[in-house]
Amino acid sequence: MTVAAVIRIGISSCLLGQEVRFDGGHKRDPFLTDTLGPQVEWVPVCPEVEMGLGTPRETLRLIRSSDARTSDASGPFRMVTTRTAIDHTEGMNRWAARRLEELARDEPDLCGYVLKKDSPSCGMERVKTYSEAGMPERNGRGLYATALMRRFPTLPIEEEGRLNDPRLRENFIERVFAYRRLKDLFQPGWSLGALVKFHTAHKMALLAHSTTRYNDLGRLVAKGSEIPKRELRAEYETAFMATLQIVSTPRRHTNVLTHMMGHLKKQLDAESKRELLQSIEEYRTGLVPLVVPLTLLRHYVRLHRVEYLAGQTYLEPHPRELMLRNHV
Ligand code: SF4
Repeated sequence: MTVAAVIRIGISSCLLGQEVRFDGGHKRDPFLTDTLGPQVEWVPVCPEVEMGLGTPRETLRLIRSSDARTSDASGPFRMVTTRTAIDHTEGMNRWAARRLEELARDEPDLCGYVLKKDSPSCGMERVKTYSEAGMPERNGRGLYATALMRRFPTLPIEEEGRLNDPRLRENFIERVFAYRRLKDLFQPGWSLGALVKFHTAHKMALLAHSTTRYNDLGRLVAKGSEIPKRELRAEYETAFMATLQIVSTPRRHTNVLTHMMGHLKKQLDAESKRELLQSIEEYRTGLVPLVVPLTLLRHYVRLHRVEYLAGQTYLEPHPRELMLRNHV
């Protein structure tokens, strides 16, 4: 299964080095610009500048509010300027709704989104909020992030801070590339046969996240001919992306590697088996990263032309240049 060339990822503009922050500065993130950047095309958005607040500007904060009018669009928070207390909640929500429709229309290749943490507009979790009396708590989500997650519920979305964790980073990038393949699958006129093939090619990848969820997805595909196509597509997409969001563990990877090795038992001689088993064991005990047994496995799959395994996305879920499996 091949990955199409275009991977477009939405991003908080300041993470690319654009000087759009309240103080005229930026928050350039070298992993995003230098490592991931060459593999993808960015779609930068700065909600505060694009809605017209300008740079530099007064800082904003989220106020916890009991006002029922806010509960639909932005949760229980209002977004106000820190010093002058100007309320931008409705302006931001109106602008976000319009901008997100534009993104849905103009960016059909959007496969992920990276948000700036801690921002009252872009922050995805644990954004600082204040009671009306000024008591801070870390329990908020930015207004734009809230609208984004509602408008694109299956899109892989992550904060740049969480991407410093190698497992979360690998998980996010895996989801981005899988989302791209899912988009390629569900082109107009897609067939149930193509879905079966897609599901088969993702078997090992899904098992590395959850066996139960993999089985649930299999049952959904098996009764695919009884379900209206639109419903089947929506259900599969939601469950597939939710499964990949479960962060894999060394134990799950070990199970998958051992399972794949089982498909090679007739082809491998005793020495090769011993070598592969040792490599899996060294990964399980933390002596080597996942890339080590995976590279060996990939070598044997290619050498012995095991077609079923060769088609598994698990062996190559994202570009090798990113070296994501050197760190998990
Ligand atoms: Fe703009 Fe969001 Fe960056 Fe703030 S965090 S400067 S709103 S892109």
